[in-house]
Amino acid sequence: MTAPHVTPGQVWAALAAVPDPEIPVVSVTDMGMVRDVTVEHDRVTVTFTPTFSGCPALHVIRESIGDAVRALGVQDVEVRSTLTPPWTTDWIKEDARERLREYGIAPPAPAGEGVLITLDPEPTRCPRCGSLNVRMTGSFGPTLCKRLYVCDACKEPFEGFKSV
Ligand SMILES: [Zn+2]
Repeated sequence: MTAPHVTPGQVWAALAAVPDPEIPVVSVTDMGMVRDVTVEHDRVTVTFTPTFSGCPALHVIRESIGDAVRALGVQDVEVRSTLTPPWTTDWIKEDARERLREYGIAPPAPAGEGVLITLDPEPTRCPRCGSLNVRMTGSFGPTLCKRLYVCDACKEPFEGFKSV
């Protein structure tokens, strides 16, 4: 039995169709989670970094990545996760930030280099009306990755990412 030959490019393309389990408008590659793809003979290894170490969706991401590679006809798939270097919001692709905004999640401000985490939340815009007059209502949203905000201009609550 000969396994079909796949290229790293085909694997990347398949992973680009794997949605983020929490935000279906973006894929795991849009979020910059997939760090490495290697193809050795019949074996495909995918290394990914979860968006935040506390995200409860880790096993879902792992299974979705494995399923996407197996759908290419690959039997031998290894999905590894690594926390080094840690995921940063800077890895989110530019066009994905726009889709996050349209979905109603405030894209994170670029974390930048050498910026220390401070207690003051970064300026966040309301995704509905664009107002900067927003308040954080909780440190964490439904998952540890997000925060809950409320907009004082349109009185709508929305979710924002933590910049990490
Ligand atoms: Zn608003």
